[in-house]
Amino acid sequence: MLLFDRKFFRCDLYDDPFTPTFRLTEVADYLQAKLPSAEIVKHGELVHEKLTMLPESERDNLLQRLAVGFAKARVHDPYQPVIEREPLYGEIAYERRRLTQRGEAKGVVYDGFMVQELLSSLFNQMEMNRWRLPIVFTNQLLATFDESDRRYHLRTVLLGYPAIVSTTGLVEAPAKPREFYIAREQFRAMGLDAISPVLESELKDRCLLPNDERLTEVAKGYAMQAVFYALFGEAFCDDKDCRLYNAHWQEEMLHAQLDGKYDLCPRHEKMLQNFQGELTNLR
Ligand SMILES: [Zn+2]
Repeated sequence: MLLFDRKFFRCDLYDDPFTPTFRLTEVADYLQAKLPSAEIVKHGELVHEKLTMLPESERDNLLQRLAVGFAKARVHDPYQPVIEREPLYGEIAYERRRLTQRGEAKGVVYDGFMVQELLSSLFNQMEMNRWRLPIVFTNQLLATFDESDRRYHLRTVLLGYPAIVSTTGLVEAPAKPREFYIAREQFRAMGLDAISPVLESELKDRCLLPNDERLTEVAKGYAMQAVFYALFGEAFCDDKDCRLYNAHWQEEMLHAQLDGKYDLCPRHEKMLQNFQGELTNLR
């Protein structure tokens, strides 16, 4: 029996051009090597690309809709789920600037599912379906509300359509070693914002730091989680050496992504190979 009734799987990757250590091409090459029969397509930044595809007269409408949507998705209180409300004029203006002047992620946290829904409205059925998965890389911080402890938690990846990988989330979401937090408190008590370079180099093996050259390598595994979820409905693995390991600590994440025993564990590698076989047989 054929599991798949279509001839190909396509994955569209949207760049995060604001994070200098993130290199989309390397992620695309990695996915292509793991899935030789799939079509992996690179794009520029999502909102920019969608705006330029529109006739000029329609761009402002889309921009305004997105700005309002992002402003509504802002998390103001980590202990309260975001509720529907009219955003302030200043919040909308901030989002318009961010979206058009290529603004930075200024520590604003957004409700991840609301952002996912907003971004999904940018794709039609041809561009996003069972056989075509967009993965959006962003430097925005995304969080989801966890009912069990009634608070928001930062996320590395949002699975689904489109999948979203937060490059800032890779640095901020998995917990850092306790020494990092203790040191940060000590430095703050001294009125210093940043942690000393000496301490930074001591912590380097144990967590991703801002502007970390290892970011792209780590991001590959999270893109793969999104692909696995789209293809097989399962994204995570219990094996600490597999790139699909659902790391809660920075150290676990670095181990799984950078120096695990293998790339994917044998079971997940086999799943990919079987899928490749299906695709090749159909051709
Ligand atoms: Zn695995």
